[in-house]
Amino acid sequence: MPESLPGGRRAAIVGSGPAGFYAAEFLLRAGLTVDLYEKLPAPFGLVRYGVAPDHQTIKRVAGAFDRTAKQPGFRFRGNVDVGRALSVEELRTAYDVVVLAYGASTDRRLGVPGEDLEGSHAATSFVAWYNSHPDHGTNRYDLTSERAVVVGIGNVALDVARVLVRNPEELKATDIAEPALSLLRASRVREVVLLGRRGPAEAAFDQGELVDIAGLAGVEVSVEGSTNFTVPEGADAATRKNVEYLATLPREPSGRAERRVRLRFLASPSELVGTAGRVSALRFEENELVESGGKSTARGTGRFEVLETGLVIRSIGYHGTPMPGVPFDAKRGVIPNALGRVLGDGGAPIPGLYVTGWIKRGPSGLIGTNKACAKETTDGALADLPTLPAPKVLPAELDRRLGERPEPVVDYEAWRLIDQAEVERGKPLGKVRDKLATVSEMLGVALPAR
Ligand code: FAD
Ligand code: NAP
Repeated sequence: MPESLPGGRRAAIVGSGPAGFYAAEFLLRAGLTVDLYEKLPAPFGLVRYGVAPDHQTIKRVAGAFDRTAKQPGFRFRGNVDVGRALSVEELRTAYDVVVLAYGASTDRRLGVPGEDLEGSHAATSFVAWYNSHPDHGTNRYDLTSERAVVVGIGNVALDVARVLVRNPEELKATDIAEPALSLLRASRVREVVLLGRRGPAEAAFDQGELVDIAGLAGVEVSVEGSTNFTVPEGADAATRKNVEYLATLPREPSGRAERRVRLRFLASPSELVGTAGRVSALRFEENELVESGGKSTARGTGRFEVLETGLVIRSIGYHGTPMPGVPFDAKRGVIPNALGRVLGDGGAPIPGLYVTGWIKRGPSGLIGTNKACAKETTDGALADLPTLPAPKVLPAELDRRLGERPEPVVDYEAWRLIDQAEVERGKPLGKVRDKLATVSEMLGVALPAR
């Protein structure tokens, strides 16, 4: 039993994305036992449900998490929605250390009229849909419009644009959801306009991601509108690369490419216009940049333009949600903390309660960023360990409570059955895997005798 392993100190982690798995790695290495609680039957968070299907090499990081899961003293507790099936308070009674690593799953709002019209979607839902997330299997998208508009100009916006313009035959061998592949094959989208509210020097994407789109067969990328390609003094290397690369792109589409991606900087949506409840156009305002508090911010010029479109994808960032019984900064969508120690309402750390990943820092950073983040958090937890109160009950008591629910717990062996079944299902389709898209299908494979 894990609780009898050396040291006898134990940790619960909530969320099995990169932050949760990196935290598990550090805590196991320090001799604690780790129970990793995950809402879904499948682990890996956005590595499985966010990273684009044509980024399979990135998804291979799951292999490192798999090695962590094989360590003695590790248990995966899948299909357990913490906050609903078990409270954080219950976890705190059974573990020395509780680390919250449940990510940021909802979208930020644009706050403009027409945002909720049919045909206007959050990128958070769109990427979850093409990645077979069980909460998004019933999403519906209409790809019959020739032009799509993506609002925002970060890496997620580029993922969405790339999936929309890429020849779908180049996606068929990936783990893309089959319904998404079918819809993309029938898609009439020929042009994706990306709207960035600030200028090229403030664009949030990585240059390599745009280079990949420009290199796709039959796709042309252009940069339009009144745009300044000057590299600001003191700019970092990433900004310099972005601006210099953008300056080399055509200023208008040649008309020869089969599909187009048009970047439009200094443009903020002011309204999504609807006809019979559906988006038919997006109205945007041209911006100018103003310096404020050492930062360039966008200010409207009063000049407006209209783009006809039947599909708007809002890719302006993710947002965290609160966990019952845990302090929350609703504006930033994060759990207030000092170096990963969760701060109570009075501003003092709550003993034994920690946070890491997107729900700690906010929704930014690559997979690897979460490793340093988890190190900071677990270093704090390990330093605090001698002073933390001893748990009152064994995790076996929580197992018992969970056993009383109709929903079964999925352990790592059961997840492996899902994993193997998906790879097998993929073979006749020529795919790396064909994901099981609902919780009941996953449970049917993971726990067949249930
Ligand atoms: P997540 O990965 O979101 O993991 C959180 C986990 O917590 C999930 O498994 C979730 O199901 C679980 N959870 C939520 N609520 C509960 C609960 N109540 N109880 C139990 N479990 C719960 N980075 C790269 O380096 N390369 C890329 O190509 C790349 N592509 C990306 C594409 C997209 C669309 C997005 C959004 C991000 C991408 N990133 C990429 C960034 C990377 O995915 C994140 O940095 C990373 O996943 C954040 O890790 P996390 O563990 O904080 O959150
Ligand atoms: P992001 O990088 O923060 O980009 C969000 C974009 O939305 C920015 O362009 C931002 O502009 C814009 N925006 C925010 N509010 C807006 C508003 N009200 N109106 C108009 N535009 C608005 O977030 P993300 O693209 O969701 O990515 C999240 C993280 O995951 C990032 O760290 C990213 O690098 C990572 N990721 C990496 C990959 C990869 O490596 N391939 C792929 C996907 C995601 P401002 O800058 O003006 O705020």
